[in-house]
Amino acid sequence: MSDTIEKIKCLIIGSGPAGYTAAIYAARANMNPVLYQGMQPGGQLTTTNEVENFPGYVDGVTGPEMMVQLQEQAKRFGADIRDGWATKVDFSGDIHKVWINDSIELHCETVIISTGASAKYLGLPSEQHYLNMGGGVSACAVCDGFFYRNQEVVIVGAGDSACEEAHYLSKLCKKVTMLVRSEKFRASKIMEERVRKTENIEILMNHDTLEVVGDNQVVHAIKALNKTTGEVIEIPATGFFVAIGHKPNTDIFKDYITLDETGYIINTPGTSNTNVPGVFVAGDAADHVYRQAITAAGTGCMAALDAERYLASKE
Ligand SMILES: Cc1cc2nc3c(=O)[nH]c(=O)nc-3n(C[C@H](O)[C@H](O)[C@H](O)COP(=O)(O)OP(=O)(O)OC[C@H]3O[C@@H](n4cnc5c(N)ncnc54)[C@H](O)[C@@H]3O)c2cc1C
Repeated sequence: MSDTIEKIKCLIIGSGPAGYTAAIYAARANMNPVLYQGMQPGGQLTTTNEVENFPGYVDGVTGPEMMVQLQEQAKRFGADIRDGWATKVDFSGDIHKVWINDSIELHCETVIISTGASAKYLGLPSEQHYLNMGGGVSACAVCDGFFYRNQEVVIVGAGDSACEEAHYLSKLCKKVTMLVRSEKFRASKIMEERVRKTENIEILMNHDTLEVVGDNQVVHAIKALNKTTGEVIEIPATGFFVAIGHKPNTDIFKDYITLDETGYIINTPGTSNTNVPGVFVAGDAADHVYRQAITAAGTGCMAALDAERYLASKE
């Protein structure tokens, strides 16, 4: 553990749109924010080539470029951006303790958690190949559905989010094939009914995804196993959407912060407050509904303003 303890007024954990927006607001409010970037500097958007729905970018922008700009904007106002990740916290006292890389000990008056969430994937080598190529695999229909307008796509998943994303895609795509691994949906009846009633959604129950098929650059089809008959089918598709859930990056907070059953941080509605005074949350770490860069940025702003008001109330 560390020999020296650093005192920090406002610590921001995470460098996605939520963290950087919080840093911009906190720096401009003279809160001297220190931001630790974590293992994925720039967050989830650094894994995508095209962001077309963030307001202000008329011609779109690549994810990495946008995140560099957000970082530069935060630095311009004096935010202290650092490498390293939070490995342990102790939020039991008035001063919130955070350890970086298991060594540096920070004593913080306020903490903004903006550690995001990670989409779950099937883990097939072909899925990972096309995901990394940016050629037809996505975990976000709202982000990427537009690129598959009038095309045929496949979506895998059986929960409410999968049904919602399939329905969203059905408005853009010629045909959506939904692969459900078991004989039952996990989604609510109403969501299941909605996809069942949508003409251009074909549901294949009891099917496993075997392979994402393509020409090495882009996706052409999805190979699936009908577990009832043993037949292997190939479904023509240019896009493969994975909607099997997300994992919020919140494990280190679980002993102090109230989480829901899937690990999302529970905030007081309409605020960024967690159950611990002085600890705030922004972005996907608390959002299993919208999961967009603009909503993450919006809640980053809220967290910085809430932290600023908290500090003012203690003066
Ligand atoms: C492939 C892809 C494409 C997308 N496209 C779009 C799009 O076009 N438009 C759109 O609006 N949204 C898009 N999204 C969704 C968008 O990226 C997220 O909603 C947004 O990034 C969430 O921002 P965030 O700041 O909450 O967290 P994230 O972007 O997830 O960032 C989390 C940050 O926390 C850090 N971190 C995690 N744990 C720790 C720790 N212990 N200590 C320190 N740091 C830590 C990580 O290193 C990372 O920097 C896309 C997502 C993906 C995966």
